[in-house]
Amino acid sequence: MTIRGIGLHTGEPSTVRLHPAEGPVRFWMGGLEFRPLASSVVDTTRCTVLGWHHLRLMTVEHLLAALYIRGIWEGLIVEVAGPEIPILDGSAQEWLALLQDFPPQGPHPTPVSGTIRVEEGRSSVLAQPAEGFSLTVTILFPHPKIGYQQVQCPPTALAALASARTFGFLHEVEAMRAQGLIKGASLDNALVFSEHSFVNTPRVLHEPVWHKALDFLGDLYLAGRPYQGRFAVHRGSHRLHVELAKLLQG
Ligand SMILES: [Zn+2]
Repeated sequence: MTIRGIGLHTGEPSTVRLHPAEGPVRFWMGGLEFRPLASSVVDTTRCTVLGWHHLRLMTVEHLLAALYIRGIWEGLIVEVAGPEIPILDGSAQEWLALLQDFPPQGPHPTPVSGTIRVEEGRSSVLAQPAEGFSLTVTILFPHPKIGYQQVQCPPTALAALASARTFGFLHEVEAMRAQGLIKGASLDNALVFSEHSFVNTPRVLHEPVWHKALDFLGDLYLAGRPYQGRFAVHRGSHRLHVELAKLLQG
């Protein structure tokens, strides 16, 4: 099955094909195969970028989040032609729908063995031993339509997070474009905030924090296997998420 779209940052077209295959989930591009692992992350500035020899693959997080939600760790090759995973509608719901044809497959969750905390300024990511899996994500943005937001899974189902879109602020657009970023961003693939309000309408009340939780799952996938434990993310970033995945990966 094939999906085409443009990259959020490069604005370039890319194609993704999903193939059933034995063994761990891996990407196939430019004639090379590589696993999505934290040890292969080469950049986390605005999205998560994997690097393998001369190859670079940007914005892997929403596809990986869908794999996490579906519990697919084995049995799939993701063939990519292009520099970036397509942003589609800015969420993971299309990936989740596509992955419905692939069964959940992989190892049993590994218990988190001790408390792991990664911090940077007022941001933190925590993993602790616990029965089952739980995730709490909070954000704090000085914007009248965001402020403090929290999501807890459970009771919120991980699959519900998939509909939450990438979000951004109108005032950042110029600066990010000047850095060569978000060339593919539009109101079709992001929830955009103006100075005091929304430019387009949110899909769910707390869409920004739901999206942050989705990004976290995508980055946590880079630990290479599912984990059982309590996860808490406050004002997370790809950098901190990936750092945690790296520590879990060991
Ligand atoms: Zn995202």
